[in-house]
Amino acid sequence: MQKYDVVVVGAGPAGCSAAVTCASLGMEVLLLYRKKKEARKPCGGVLPWITTEIIEDIFDEALPSRVMNNPQELGLYYVPPSGRNESGRVRNYRIHYIVREKFDAWLIDITASAGVEVLTETRAIALEGNSPITVHAKRHSGEEMSFQAEYLVGADGVSSMVRRSLSLESAADFLIVGQQLWSNRRHSDLEDNFYGFFRGDISIAYSYAIPKGDDILIGTGVRPRQTPHAFDALDRFKEWLVDDFNFDDSTMLKKETWAIPFGYFIPGTGNTLLVGDAAGLCNPLSGEGIRLGIESGEAAGSAISKAKEGNDLLQYYIREVDGIARMVLDLHKFVVTSTDESRQEFVRQELTRGII
Ligand SMILES: Cc1cc2nc3c(=O)[nH]c(=O)nc-3n(C[C@H](O)[C@H](O)[C@H](O)COP(=O)(O)OP(=O)(O)OC[C@H]3O[C@@H](n4cnc5c(N)ncnc54)[C@H](O)[C@@H]3O)c2cc1C
Repeated sequence: MQKYDVVVVGAGPAGCSAAVTCASLGMEVLLLYRKKKEARKPCGGVLPWITTEIIEDIFDEALPSRVMNNPQELGLYYVPPSGRNESGRVRNYRIHYIVREKFDAWLIDITASAGVEVLTETRAIALEGNSPITVHAKRHSGEEMSFQAEYLVGADGVSSMVRRSLSLESAADFLIVGQQLWSNRRHSDLEDNFYGFFRGDISIAYSYAIPKGDDILIGTGVRPRQTPHAFDALDRFKEWLVDDFNFDDSTMLKKETWAIPFGYFIPGTGNTLLVGDAAGLCNPLSGEGIRLGIESGEAAGSAISKAKEGNDLLQYYIREVDGIARMVLDLHKFVVTSTDESRQEFVRQELTRGII
């Protein structure tokens, strides 16, 4: 059985960040990814501007133009429950806009060049022991393999198998996100912005519209078993877009549902850390999780390096991610206690920010 300092399960932004950090600190690292590189992932593809600096710090490379979307940059535009009349673009705010599959593939390439052994099409299926940990995996071909690691990082997303295997599932909750891609956005009043819409009868959290070239992606987040269900909520949202933004609803190109974590932080246990969505670190109001995944991945790598020097792994990790974990939990509280009045006030404050 091959032995590693660290096995990372999942090669999304969080897993790549954890793996690169561990490798740069001199550790032998294996990264397991159940899919092919460039596998499709439902995602809006928007990144707050600061993310590029974080990426450059951790991955030592700038975001290349080949991973950028069309357009490459977006503004941020909020629409309150009262509708378009009191909506507007947030001043001096810009967002990077990436193609998610290309972005993730780029991170995997950097991770492999940093000395991490990357096994794609290899799914972790079971865990055994704590120190060392044995990870059993299955390749797409059907071949079964096992690896031994001193430390394990669960970076395997919202329905993390690592989290489930460690019986840490009870606090994990999620929002279902429904997305539809529509054609002909040029006929509507929707410009090059990430549009955030807030109305409680559609979503407890958020609805969004994002241009994709001449098409437009719309989405909304709902609680499991909520009425309206994801696609009924999307129908309501679409009607709002038709009424307020001349949205052209003649041709839908695609629809899908996925999930995001909703208001928990589960750091891990024993010699295993959870990062990114697996840990619950995703903004429950906006669905932004790529940056939080990258930051928590780096924190996990640093914590493992400190643990090798005798520090307490979990304590160090929890301290490192305290800021983002608190933000997630505070925003969750805001989301679950919001009324349309408080959503209206939230948008008003965001739009007047910076106006003296
Ligand atoms: C519809 C939608 C739109 C979104 N839009 C945005 C956005 O615009 N901007 C933003 O910042 N965030 C967005 N998010 C959130 C963002 O996608 C996640 O927060 C982010 O991907 C978390 O990164 P991660 O590395 O933790 O997990 P993931 O990106 O989910 O990566 C986990 C990886 O692990 C792999 N994996 C799972 N199980 C195993 C296993 N057993 N063995 C091996 N590999 C495994 C999976 O295939 C997956 O590739 C969106 C989410 C959704 C659902």
